[in-house]
Amino acid sequence: MFDSLSEKLGGILDRLTRRGALTEADVDAALREVRRALLEADVALDVARAFTDRVKKDAVGVTVMKSVTPGQLVVKIVHDELVKTLGSDSQTIDLNAAPPVAIMMVGLQGSGKTTTTAKIAKRLTTRQNKKVLMASLDVRRPAAMEQLAVLGRDAEIDTLPIVAGQLPPQIAKRAIEAARLGGYDVVLLDTAGRTTLDEEMMNEAAEVKRAADPHEVLLVADSLTGQDAVNLARAFDERVGLTGIVLTRVDGDGRGGAALSMRAVTNKPIKLIGVGEKLDALEEFDPSRIAGRILG
Ligand code: GDP
Repeated sequence: MFDSLSEKLGGILDRLTRRGALTEADVDAALREVRRALLEADVALDVARAFTDRVKKDAVGVTVMKSVTPGQLVVKIVHDELVKTLGSDSQTIDLNAAPPVAIMMVGLQGSGKTTTTAKIAKRLTTRQNKKVLMASLDVRRPAAMEQLAVLGRDAEIDTLPIVAGQLPPQIAKRAIEAARLGGYDVVLLDTAGRTTLDEEMMNEAAEVKRAADPHEVLLVADSLTGQDAVNLARAFDERVGLTGIVLTRVDGDGRGGAALSMRAVTNKPIKLIGVGEKLDALEEFDPSRIAGRILG
């Protein structure tokens, strides 16, 4: 097995046993390992480069106190910078608007979008005592609409009745109207996904956004897809405009790199993470824990 990054940095720097300020040469040696570890953790190359440049600025010249070794000091500086890049405050879903608050879910087919929609609905219902309505806008895949209905029945969350022949923006409007009339606090709009990034999906999402004027637009992205998830986030943010990201399958991702890259590229907060198939397998994003995972 590989040594963890923390151990490697310790190995490189503690051989110096020198006290005083960290020199540029010390820091460069350490940051080569940091960059390698980031790439192994699936962080995008340009993100890794920009990150190590920032750490270098922070680290060169810092005095190594007697209580820590140079290795421990650099690990701490890297950790702090990781947390800063990932977003130091944990951000949750913003419901600060007149009800019904519309939340639009976007993402690729298979990313966990429908499951995540139901997970969020359940979380808002059980933890925040909100009355939630879910609506599927996937008019091309009846199975996706049925899947949301089944999830809703299992979790005792209401879903918008399916009406054949409506277009996604019309369904979005109907959902919001039904939520208003029914006294719902939140309406979750589960838009159609495709297996790859395509124009039609983007156009449709942009139309739904114009029709629904949602308070949150959350991208659901599979953390195991690494660089593809980063490209997806960039494209959706440019074309549709995102307010946040939900990373799924974090339970199967020991590396954590997608989180760092997506945050660095879009500057949009990662609000929640999916950690399993069950409806309660949804957690708040904890930058410090992901930083720890990347550092190993
Ligand atoms: P959609 O096509 O994007 O709506 O994807 P689905 O919601 O149908 O999810 C696809 C599969 O991924 C299902 O089997 C889900 O149970 C599974 N899934 C969703 N989120 C997670 C997660 O966070 N972890 C794991 N392990 N599986 C997940």
